[in-house]
Amino acid sequence: MSDCLFCKIIKGDIPCRKLYEDDEVLAFHDINPVAPVHFMLIPKRHLKSLAEADESHQALLGRLMVLLPKLAKEQGLDHGFRTVINTGRGGGQEVFHLHIHVIGGGNLPPMVRRD
Ligand code: AMP
Ligand code: ZN
Repeated sequence: MSDCLFCKIIKGDIPCRKLYEDDEVLAFHDINPVAPVHFMLIPKRHLKSLAEADESHQALLGRLMVLLPKLAKEQGLDHGFRTVINTGRGGGQEVFHLHIHVIGGGNLPPMVRRD
């Protein structure tokens, strides 16, 4: 997808602070972190959001999920971390290339404010 920000990062057209890469997956630090550790795990294959996932993405999504805790540990998140997948405008998604936020390394506030 030529107009997709994360596809441009995958291609190397836009720089990122990479922490992991293989043939199917890229992980890089969020440019605007909300906690001491905040990185993103994305599939290299363009997929707009979780809402567009189908059976053909099953193995890839599983791969992301199994890799994720290993990367979190490498980033020093020994006591746990938060994973967030914003899906669609209603879910607060801003970049329409599926990504999993991995957040931790501080005292995280409750995920949803109840007030
Ligand atoms: P979302 O709201 O789930 O779509 O999250 C998009 C995330 O992408 C935000 O947390 C942004 O800070 C992050 N972001 C936007 N541009 C870049 C970039 N060039 N490099 C790294 N992270 C980015
Ligand atoms: Zn993309």
